[in-house]
Amino acid sequence: MVEKAKYIWMNGKLINWDEAKVHVLTHTLHYGLGVFEGIRCYACIDGRSAVFRLKEHVRRLFDSARAMMLEIPFSQEEIYQAIMETLKANEQKEAYIRPIVFIGDGAMGLHPQNNPIQVAIVTWRWGAYLGEGGLKRGIRVKVSSFTRHHVNVMMTKTKTVGNYVNSILAKLEVLKAGYDEAIMLDTEGYVCEATGENIFIVRDGEIKTPPLTSVLPGITRNSLITLARDLGYVVKEERFTRDEVYIADEAFFCGTAAELTPIREVDDRQIGEGKPGPVTQKLQTLYFDVVRGKVEKYHRWLDFVQ
Ligand SMILES: *Cc1c(COP(=O)(O)O)cnc(C)c1O
Repeated sequence: MVEKAKYIWMNGKLINWDEAKVHVLTHTLHYGLGVFEGIRCYACIDGRSAVFRLKEHVRRLFDSARAMMLEIPFSQEEIYQAIMETLKANEQKEAYIRPIVFIGDGAMGLHPQNNPIQVAIVTWRWGAYLGEGGLKRGIRVKVSSFTRHHVNVMMTKTKTVGNYVNSILAKLEVLKAGYDEAIMLDTEGYVCEATGENIFIVRDGEIKTPPLTSVLPGITRNSLITLARDLGYVVKEERFTRDEVYIADEAFFCGTAAELTPIREVDDRQIGEGKPGPVTQKLQTLYFDVVRGKVEKYHRWLDFVQ
């Protein structure tokens, strides 16, 4: 259960958590056309809180909306300020932040016509998305029988509400089979991403992640590529097959929610030593140091809440 905060920002103002309701004829509820973001705010070592790469997340929200022809009735700057305002009002040192843009009620049918575009921002406390144990010891994953979206079926660069039905199918399938998360292949059979995370593999010290063809352009993915290159690793954005994951020395998922979660097993095959490898550990430690403001060099990615 999500732990309630005091307020939710809705269409321009803060209202009480319990009052943030929608009508059952909300267009997005029926047809799935809406866009959202997932952002995290961390408590930093100096006592302040900082949102990680907030401008990039707000920009991606607007990119998703543009691709889906949703006109957000606020500017990027207004949404940025609204997120800060919500965090302050809720007095949260650490939070997961969920802005969502959806089509309200009015007309029904597939043409959204002039239904109002609604915007809400919710912040709540959310620990390790794939479990504390998963962060430390790594998780067991399975390749799903559900294929990730074709680029002409869904707008894969967007965080569109309806896209996640495909993710939920994969997640349900592998969780029922006893695994922790799914790897999804693209329509040509190459490794794509997980249900809400990007994937990386490491072999002989070289790091690989699928290119941004049909994967969501993760901000964590982008950050880790920068961090890895700054540490001197070679990072390639290249397609690879599932057997390349089986024989990798290391593998991990990354995303705002999942942060950097090591993978210890894929399709019942142990990855490397069956525990987080040295490159994974190094990047995970650095990532958590960066988001908590411990590394001056990457303060450019932090927007302090003040
Ligand atoms: C959000 C998401 C990611 C990760 O993106 P971040 O910007 O790192 O949070 C990866 N894949 C999918 C499908 C996602 O929805």
